[in-house]
Amino acid sequence: MTAAVTRELLARLPKAELHVHLDGSLRPATMLELADAAGVTLPADSPQALADHMLVREAKNLEEYLDRFVVTLSVMQTTAALERIAYEFVTDVARENVRYVEVRYCPALHMPALSLEEAVEAPLAGLRRGEAETGTIARVIFCGLRTLPPATSLDMARAAVRYRDHGIVAFDLAGAEARHPAADHVDAFRYAAEHGLAITCHAGEGDGTASIRQAIERCHAQRIGHGVRLHEDGDLERLVRDRGIPLEMCLTSNMHTRTVPDVSRHPIRRYFDAGIPVTLNTDSRLMDGVSLSDEYWKAHTRLGFDRSELERISLSAFEHAFLPEAEKRALIERVARELEEIP
Ligand SMILES: [Zn+2]
Repeated sequence: MTAAVTRELLARLPKAELHVHLDGSLRPATMLELADAAGVTLPADSPQALADHMLVREAKNLEEYLDRFVVTLSVMQTTAALERIAYEFVTDVARENVRYVEVRYCPALHMPALSLEEAVEAPLAGLRRGEAETGTIARVIFCGLRTLPPATSLDMARAAVRYRDHGIVAFDLAGAEARHPAADHVDAFRYAAEHGLAITCHAGEGDGTASIRQAIERCHAQRIGHGVRLHEDGDLERLVRDRGIPLEMCLTSNMHTRTVPDVSRHPIRRYFDAGIPVTLNTDSRLMDGVSLSDEYWKAHTRLGFDRSELERISLSAFEHAFLPEAEKRALIERVARELEEIP
């Protein structure tokens, strides 16, 4: 007989997070201190008021949601700020028993204030400090942005390859999807793939199923960021299931960007039941006002996932981590043992 699902149980559950943006996951109090030091004016002057402002409740679409990142990026333009934000991020996720995290960001958004090397090495230093203190493993995904020139995406892919022995595990394309096809950035994807880097791609969130097909067929995506609208194309849904392509799903964020009208109508249940590997993620802890445990709680209370299903989703995230196979197996064994010890 296993215990009922409670918030405490979900907080204790060992978890992995595969889709979370560094520039969407700052502590409001830290933002205020960094803004003070940098002489930047923020839209609110107390941590609570700033948290409220940053929380995206009423965005009309993905584009409006993305506007909030201008605010966080305004205090992320020094190496000290990036190191601190990355360090605090690891300690925050570790506190809710996230044992493995892949955090993503676009180094180009911290340039020209910083050199590329600084924009890469400062967050890595912060992540290493967080790892040493908490034992949580942190890896990095570099993003190109659909709204930046394809040449910038290629630069990010090259940087990812250059730093892959230092914790960069994959390349992603993020940003406004509608009218900005991923195929414009094929050179970056090809470079990453040819150099053995893993690939994920935001798709099927702000745009339809063609964007998911393009991510898989033209951009070598091994995982899909969101993929919410996959159900609109039955053939593609079967292909994703048959190939076992994991979906990085973000329940609250998908509601905030109006990709789904409400969490209770999120298609994750349909995909899970169909045998598609699904994972739960926050996307942006600040803009979405959630922790990963909150997302598991929503999956339980709003979509009826029971304890064994939530444990399967948690394990699925570890299984689809972009880690070397041996390292991944060792991590999964540790997590499985930990799961058995939870009453
Ligand atoms: Zn995202």
